[in-house]
Amino acid sequence: MSYPTGTLVFMSIRQRACPTVGSQLDVLTMHCSHARYVYNVGLEFRRLAYQHKLRFGHRDGYPDRVPGGGYVAQAAQLTEARREFAWLREGSTVVQQGALRDLDRAFANFFSGRARFPRFRTARDVRQGFVVRDLRLRRLNRRWGAVLVPKAGWLRFKISRQWSDLLACTSARVTVERGRWHVAFVCPPPVKRAPGTGAVVGIDRGVTITAATSDGELLHIPGLTAGERGRMIRLEQKLAAQPRAPRGSGQRSRRREATLAKITALRNRLAERRRDWIEKTSTDLASRYDRVAVEDLRTANMIRRAEPQPDPDSPGNFLPNGAAAKTGLNREISASCWNRLATRLHHKTEVTEVPAFHTSQCCNRCNRITDGNRESQAVFVCKRCGHEANADVNAARNIRDLAYRGVTLGRGTPAAARNTATPCDANLQTAS
Ligand SMILES: [Zn+2]
Repeated sequence: MSYPTGTLVFMSIRQRACPTVGSQLDVLTMHCSHARYVYNVGLEFRRLAYQHKLRFGHRDGYPDRVPGGGYVAQAAQLTEARREFAWLREGSTVVQQGALRDLDRAFANFFSGRARFPRFRTARDVRQGFVVRDLRLRRLNRRWGAVLVPKAGWLRFKISRQWSDLLACTSARVTVERGRWHVAFVCPPPVKRAPGTGAVVGIDRGVTITAATSDGELLHIPGLTAGERGRMIRLEQKLAAQPRAPRGSGQRSRRREATLAKITALRNRLAERRRDWIEKTSTDLASRYDRVAVEDLRTANMIRRAEPQPDPDSPGNFLPNGAAAKTGLNREISASCWNRLATRLHHKTEVTEVPAFHTSQCCNRCNRITDGNRESQAVFVCKRCGHEANADVNAARNIRDLAYRGVTLGRGTPAAARNTATPCDANLQTAS
């Protein structure tokens, strides 16, 4: 998951937008469908031109003579079409041209081998929306801002990030997903702001805790609150009891849909909460450490699998692990969140990836790997030197030492003999 040097990674800051019901909502919906329409018509032209080129080669037309050349040619066609069709004229030139730019980029990605051949946009595809260029922003108060959308006026959105970050953005994309509107601000890649202290940290991902740092911090990603969890269970039970409309009857079960909408709303809330946490946590880590070491996810996925639970009463047998399914699910969730956290760290700071082998079995003090070092999921007790630590913190320290102290795990180089002169040891806390 490293980006080749020179690649600009543009990022977007997604904020929840609240259009006023009525005319503004109508205009935004119109923009979405116009952008989709223009994109699809443009794609059809370019698809035909591409087929033509495959058949007859460059000389005979592409991209000059066949309709549907590059962006410039298509923008000219759009101008003509707007003169002809009143309904197209009703929409915004900026929005419609934005769709053609999207298309141009999709083709550029295809030709450079980064993406598949562009596909038609459907009303179901919620990520597309439309683009607003020449961004104009206004801050309404501490929590609310507004972005100027052509023909729709000021679109209000909830601010969950630094206002200065938003001001640095150059364009935005307005999207709608199940009735929820968002505006995603596209910003230039940030300058990596390292504190410059030389501090390094290792981070281990856990199942019960999201991440542990080599400095002994345990980071937990937020979940549903107890109240929300209860509500979710009740809604799921309710959904299970509500019959579906008979197949092919053309009817919809409205009550069922209402329940589904409530479940979706709860899930959205959780997803947003977690996204927010990931943003804050990665920014915080990047501001405190110059370099961050994590496990290489490919090796981590190879060695982490569900471990069987031995039955203490009858040796050789294993307990039926009733919690296996639940643990599996949690692991999956934490894995996806972890992926996102690692990706954002890559964006914000210098990240070193190390192979995950033995990071959780090796003692960080005496550097020996012994079977059964791990007392439990949470506690690490070394069989040789008696070193005790939180298991994830021990692993995080191994990750840090692998990355920055030239340690080979299991070689018996004791901690004292290693080069421990890194400043992060000054604030090293013992994990309890
Ligand atoms: Zn030890």
